Amino acid sequence: MKRRDAIKNLSVLPVAGAVVGTTLSLESVTAAPAAPPAPKRNLFRELGIRTFLNAAGTYTAMSGCIMQDEVIDTIRATAGEYAMIDEVQDKVGERIAAMCHAEAATVTAGCWSALVLGTAGVLTGTDMEKVARLPHLEGMKSEVLVQKTHNHGYVHALTNTGVRIVEVETADDVEKAAGPDTAMMWFLNYAGPDGKISDKEWVALGKKLNIPTMIDIAADATPVENLWKFNDMGFDLVCISGGKGLRGPQSAGILMGRKDLIAAARLNAPPRGGNIGRGMKVNKEEILGMYVALEKFINLDHAKLWKTWEDRIAVMENSVKKIPGVSTSVIVPPVANRTPTLIISWDKGRVKVGRDEFINRLRDGSPSVAVMGGKDESITITSWNLLPGQEKLVAARLSEELTKASA
Ligand SMILES: *Cc1c(COP(=O)(O)O)cnc(C)c1O
Repeated sequence: MKRRDAIKNLSVLPVAGAVVGTTLSLESVTAAPAAPPAPKRNLFRELGIRTFLNAAGTYTAMSGCIMQDEVIDTIRATAGEYAMIDEVQDKVGERIAAMCHAEAATVTAGCWSALVLGTAGVLTGTDMEKVARLPHLEGMKSEVLVQKTHNHGYVHALTNTGVRIVEVETADDVEKAAGPDTAMMWFLNYAGPDGKISDKEWVALGKKLNIPTMIDIAADATPVENLWKFNDMGFDLVCISGGKGLRGPQSAGILMGRKDLIAAARLNAPPRGGNIGRGMKVNKEEILGMYVALEKFINLDHAKLWKTWEDRIAVMENSVKKIPGVSTSVIVPPVANRTPTLIISWDKGRVKVGRDEFINRLRDGSPSVAVMGGKDESITITSWNLLPGQEKLVAARLSEELTKASA
């Protein structure tokens, strides 16, 4: 062994001095540093990506949520072995269905994917020729009934399958619009309070007219009863995001409901190809991660969790509410994203900064903080995406920027 190589090897040999023995001077032994643990790569730093504290909410563009620890453990623990996707889906689906009072369930690549695949299943049933034909609907039904106030951007998930949205407002409209071309009736849970037909009436109409009903509860994991409430109510299909309140993988969601419809939806989904869902892939560790996220979430102490969210909100509210010209209030949204939400507004005559500029200052500061803009000079803040203790950092930044703008 050359001397230079011997010194280089010191870093990997536990008793290097003893191995190389007397050929090495004491000086070179002491000069060779002990092997430091390999530093973990920090890709955010390496690539210059700005991370931030998320006081805004579960927004896809902000990378959704931080997964629960058990979900990350599950992904790590299951990523190193192979399993057949269908078998993973079968086993996980059974457990999810039992937890949520559904006949069957399958893990999808998000709530959007659940909406597409569920609709596809309704259209095709188990007819493989129809599966191959989508989004061309020859020989299939072609219309989905949606209340006018529920007709938001999310319906694009449905129209991906080739269907047309037919708007209705009243129960009478539904009875008139329903016909041989009606494939499904879709309900957007968060728009529930804005429509003339309630969730229960929607289900009753579907049953009366023999039309499958689907509900989108993407961001409505709280209160936890929502996870089974709509299955109990009688919706044929229920769709929820995995990476919002459930804090599962961002690229996962759940489609649950009638057994025949879930089976049909799966024919339109990976691992099978030649269908419209082939791109909506979700791998075994994400499927298992989704399952663990749901299980952990259901078993959380929800009263305690709510109190934690409220306490964090109070820390942030207290840091700014005495600043002259600043007012605060705490609300809980009625349906989606049900979590204590802090609204901070200010009088621009006394706190001299516009809303968007204020949001930018929080983003550009250290630590970077994301909040959402509200009406006029106001912002909204939630605490469920913060990690423990981060509320103090957010509170300090809010107070600092508002105080500076008041000077
Ligand atoms: C977020 C959201 C979706 C899409 O869910 P993903 O899990 O991001 O695919 C669909 N519908 C509503 C109402 C949502 O809020």
